[in-house]
Amino acid sequence: MRASEGKIWRIIARIDDEIIIKQASSVEKATRSVRNAVCQRLCDSAEIEYELGWWKGFRHKARRDFVDNFIGTPLYVQIDDEVEIELHEVPYEVYTIQQVRLTFRKMTLMSPDNIDAWGYLHWGPGDDEKMQLLGEKIPIPQHLSSSKGFEEEEIIALSDAQECLSECPKCKSEFPFGTLILVTENFRLIPANCCGNMIWLKEEDSEQNEDWT
Ligand SMILES: [Zn+2]
Repeated sequence: MRASEGKIWRIIARIDDEIIIKQASSVEKATRSVRNAVCQRLCDSAEIEYELGWWKGFRHKARRDFVDNFIGTPLYVQIDDEVEIELHEVPYEVYTIQQVRLTFRKMTLMSPDNIDAWGYLHWGPGDDEKMQLLGEKIPIPQHLSSSKGFEEEEIIALSDAQECLSECPKCKSEFPFGTLILVTENFRLIPANCCGNMIWLKEEDSEQNEDWT
């Protein structure tokens, strides 16, 4: 959509009681810039790095949806129209640092170092800086998924790697005590502390082994 004489798209967001106003000649441009501004604030408050292109692709839909919770309705207005926050229906969204870190960093955090023997993913040294992975959804790596699109599966069980496998499929050494297998419907993910790898297996690779589930 092209802006006609003197008119502009205006979008307003509210985060931490701060109002952000962005205007542009197209609704897409205004949306991108307000999303970036909200994302920047979220990253600052969660003390994580702002990532360029954080919103791109179907894979990052969850991030866009999260950020969009802070953003009101775009309006096509005269440039010199007064800003009327009520007309934009700007939400009062509250969030936690944990939500932000998980939305933006979950898969970066998913490393053997950060996953303990009880299935907690740690994002800091504090006792409350962790979350239980059982019941959480994780994205399936593209090269393993059957469809071309983005797939997520829920972690439905945690198994003991030492009981299921005699050796690490990557480095062939014995799994350290407390190594887990994260079980989803079709996949197994092993945060292998022996070699520092996150090892993905398809369920059929392990069908011969009854101990898996
Ligand atoms: Zn290994």
